[in-house]
Amino acid sequence: MPYLVRERLFIGNINDSAEILQDDNTEFKFIVSLLNSTSISFFTEWRPSITINAKEIRKVFVGGSENASSTSQDDDSLGGKSQKLLYSLENAGKDLKLVRMAVPVRDMESENLLDYLEVCLDFIEDSRKQGSVLVHCFAGVSRSAAIVTAYLMRSEQLSQEDALESLRKSCEFVCPNDGFLDQLKMFEEMGFKINRASTIYKRFQLKVMGDSYNRGERIDSSKFGVDPGLPTSTISSEVSTSSEEAKRMPAYRCKKCRRIVAQEENLVGHEPGEGESCFEWKKRKNSKSSKTYDEHECSSIFVEPLQWMKSVEEGALEGKLSCVHCDARLGYFNWSGIQCSCGSWITPAFQLHKSRVDISVL
Ligand SMILES: [Zn+2]
Ligand SMILES: [Zn+2]
Repeated sequence: MPYLVRERLFIGNINDSAEILQDDNTEFKFIVSLLNSTSISFFTEWRPSITINAKEIRKVFVGGSENASSTSQDDDSLGGKSQKLLYSLENAGKDLKLVRMAVPVRDMESENLLDYLEVCLDFIEDSRKQGSVLVHCFAGVSRSAAIVTAYLMRSEQLSQEDALESLRKSCEFVCPNDGFLDQLKMFEEMGFKINRASTIYKRFQLKVMGDSYNRGERIDSSKFGVDPGLPTSTISSEVSTSSEEAKRMPAYRCKKCRRIVAQEENLVGHEPGEGESCFEWKKRKNSKSSKTYDEHECSSIFVEPLQWMKSVEEGALEGKLSCVHCDARLGYFNWSGIQCSCGSWITPAFQLHKSRVDISVL
């Protein structure tokens, strides 16, 4: 039996979901399924044989390079270079009985849950206005609990700890994995929204990319930051809307040929001398602390991987970063990290030497 968390909001496991799908008189109208992709397709294939006939399965890719039917309203809000999100909405056509959103996530600490949060929370919020929602994963312990905790955090402005404690009053054995707890903490520190411009988010994305590199996955350069040296017409609408601000933002140019190689928004901040603790998200307070680069001890700036970095695309663990225009050496990258002159380790690192770039206001 699913556990009631709030009015019309339930948490459960895969059996709870299966029971709802087989029950013609179910009180549930909405399901959020957080399963690995094979379980999702199993569910989808299995379901038509029972009472509810799934007539529409829509796959929505958000961001990334896939040109699938991006009919979702979430498309714009995520920006061009965000992670690719995939979920399917199923319903039973005219005789709508159930809407199910299936989100492919594994219960692993390194799994990127953060990029799915807003999609899931918005779905839960909209659904609750119309009927009961079940949020479930396989065991009802980690993935679903993380999503419901995030929902309580945002809707009731609770800290990660308070939201989880509150959820445990409904369902005492819930236990999101440590990686999810860290991500929920980031969500809290970003003010219960995904702030893609924040240092917290950028560092998280770098870590996700680094994990993916370490698993031997192909580098997807479409996830790299837009090349700030290209004419603005090719930059996505998300970036150009902030062009007024960008005019006053410092730009980093190749010292030799003056081509723009990075902008303020591409910087990934670190606390000077923070050493090995640099990935302890919980200790980070200031989400917009790219100002730390004014510190004298840092002889480099660190940026997100950018689309001009062809040497990164080739897949090496480390290598030179050269100016795409004049080929001057600008810095270095290393997926397993570089130590800044201040002592901090940045992992993975895309480093531009301050001595090779000029800072100018656009
Ligand atoms: Zn430093
Ligand atoms: Zn150059």
